[in-house]
Amino acid sequence: MERPLIDTYNRIHDNLRISVTDRCNIRCYYCMPEDGVEFVPRAEILTFEEIERFARIAAKLGINKIRVTGGEPLVRKHLDVLIAKLASIDGIRDIALTTNGVLLAEQAEALYRAGLRRLNVHLDTLDPALFQRITRRDDFHRVMAGIMKARELGFGPIKINAVAVRDLVEDSIVPLARFGREHDIEIRYIEFMPLDAQGLWQKDRVLLADDILAMLENGIGPLDPVPDPDPRAPALEYTFRDGIGKIGFIASVSRPFCLNCNRIRLTADGNLRYCLFAIEETDIKHLLRGGAGETEIMDTIRAVVHAKWLGHEINRGGFVPPPRPMYAIGG
Ligand code: SAM
Ligand code: SF4
Repeated sequence: MERPLIDTYNRIHDNLRISVTDRCNIRCYYCMPEDGVEFVPRAEILTFEEIERFARIAAKLGINKIRVTGGEPLVRKHLDVLIAKLASIDGIRDIALTTNGVLLAEQAEALYRAGLRRLNVHLDTLDPALFQRITRRDDFHRVMAGIMKARELGFGPIKINAVAVRDLVEDSIVPLARFGREHDIEIRYIEFMPLDAQGLWQKDRVLLADDILAMLENGIGPLDPVPDPDPRAPALEYTFRDGIGKIGFIASVSRPFCLNCNRIRLTADGNLRYCLFAIEETDIKHLLRGGAGETEIMDTIRAVVHAKWLGHEINRGGFVPPPRPMYAIGG
């Protein structure tokens, strides 16, 4: 048994996020520019076989949870094949997918058959016009169809990720939570982070978790905090006191959870990162393509974890945004 991945702050790393593409079929303004996006050439993107090999090695170091993300992971052809490969890895006990849901209705069955159950679907609003303003695409109804299809097939838990931008989504906060209560879907509000491609982020555009909490309590009813069974999970979770519906907050700006971080991230072009906000990254692709053995790859993963910083500094004057925007890292 290999030593687990422990960093210099004693955080054990058992969670791997894998981005399978930097491409996307919509253009959320807090993530991608409207046009002129330069994507990584296809030959530079890791193949399914390379991703699987990396994940198998990582699993030997104690990685037991994988989240597949992007860009939009469902634009990568035959994603179900990768999911099945990852699900077959010894030691991986949890696989989840983060998607914008546009292609979910057509792919849900294949993904379910491949062994996927946990889904986070990104949806900021139930208002089709606002959806279009945010994403610059007219796909609201496809996302809704995807969510409904996933429910029908028995995916669970299904969570909705809603990015919380001030002066934009306030009117959507309560309707989304009502929708979640009605359909037994947790709504997770994610504070707007400085990871957009155009440098639009400003601190006063972050709709803070506390403000959302107040909106929900005024609009629906009291919420009580619930401890997450995994104390290292990033979301602060609440249930409505009437027992119907769960809410989560990813409060990266107002309540950073870096002290509990257990994640590493593999970008679609094969770079390993110890943090969403990291400035540096380590090229794994050249190892995978250059004939490196398992020990060399393990040593590289260990070195990345060892180099991990204490946490991001969004709230300090000296914060430097990472050189890649969200879609190119893998959110
Ligand atoms: N395309 C998929 C999606 O949208 O869910 C997966 C990748 S996306 C980069 C992952 C998550 O990042 C999304 O669910 C979205 O909520 C979140 N996100 C994107 N840009 C963000 C930003 N600037 N601040 C906070 N969250 C953001
Ligand atoms: Fe695409 Fe997801 Fe970024 Fe939106 S947040 S542009 S869906 S990658």
